[in-house]
Amino acid sequence: KHADTAMCRAKANGGNRCQFYNHHLDREAVERIELRNALYQALPNQEFELHYQPQVSVHDARITCVEALIRWHHPDKGTVAPDCFIPLAEESGLIKEIGSWVLDTACQQLKTWRQAGLDLRVAVNLSAAQLDDMAFYQQVKECLERYELQPRHLELELTESILMRHVDHSIRLLNKLDQLGVHLSIDDFGTGYSSLSYLKRLPLDTLKIDRSFVRDLCTDQDDAVICRTIISMANNLKLSVTAEGVERAEQLHKLAEFGCDLYQGYLFSRPLPASDITRLYREYTPP
Ligand code: C2E
Ligand code: CA
Ligand code: CA
Ligand code: CA
Repeated sequence: KHADTAMCRAKANGGNRCQFYNHHLDREAVERIELRNALYQALPNQEFELHYQPQVSVHDARITCVEALIRWHHPDKGTVAPDCFIPLAEESGLIKEIGSWVLDTACQQLKTWRQAGLDLRVAVNLSAAQLDDMAFYQQVKECLERYELQPRHLELELTESILMRHVDHSIRLLNKLDQLGVHLSIDDFGTGYSSLSYLKRLPLDTLKIDRSFVRDLCTDQDDAVICRTIISMANNLKLSVTAEGVERAEQLHKLAEFGCDLYQGYLFSRPLPASDITRLYREYTPP
């Protein structure tokens, strides 16, 4: 799985501008190699930053959780989107170190927020390689101790494909994390190929409906049925459900009608630097 470098280049330039090269493929291959080399320097040079996107109660607009989303400030390319460099980090094995940095940084930030009186949980995205061994459990435990956090204030987001890679191992690891009290959620729900019988065996707390189903929720009858079905299934299984990619008020109204618990999307807020979250939280939380 390669990052689409042409798309990434356009994104880094901040728009839809298309760029053409005579030796298109050569150019792309070179860019990918350059980007990958630069990635090795990114952690030591402190080029990563976390932004946070609120997950908000459908019923009363309270911010209950923020999802940590990594940003890479490349010295000459500007900000590179995670869709562009996470696949490269996974290919090159750097993802373990980057993932550890994300977990540590998000927990440290959460400690600061909680000390300032913000009643938040933080959600962290995981890559498959991070879950390969039980050492991850120890890492999470130590991180929570280091920042004196309660496990239920940390949420881990996993995709179906991560879980289905080593099903038995995933079940063991997730059971340990669940016993610790960490909040576990399935990301991009509906896009993977996990079977419902496995889902039932996993100690999950939340399903996150993929934004591809939310996008045309109000115009496409099939998408509406999918959203309504996922929500009612989650409700019946006593799982909470979060809708991703909510951009318009009509979508939110439908989701509320279907019984969705939380939503996330540009309608409420884009991912923001930590300091902006503090301000937003105070604005939306009655004292
Ligand atoms: P994701 O986990 O599904 O994250 C949600 C993505 O949707 C984010 O993109 C977010 O900015 C975007 N988004 C949020 N609201 C809306 C909306 O209303 N409309 C639209 N069109 N998009 C919205 P982002 O930040 O570019 O991240 C892309 C992906 O990169 C993430 O998808 C996740 O899979 C991965 N990623 C980000 N941070 C990390 C990380 O720290 N570790 C790992 N392993 N993966 C990460
Ligand atoms: Ca996610
Ligand atoms: Ca649990
Ligand atoms: Ca997602």
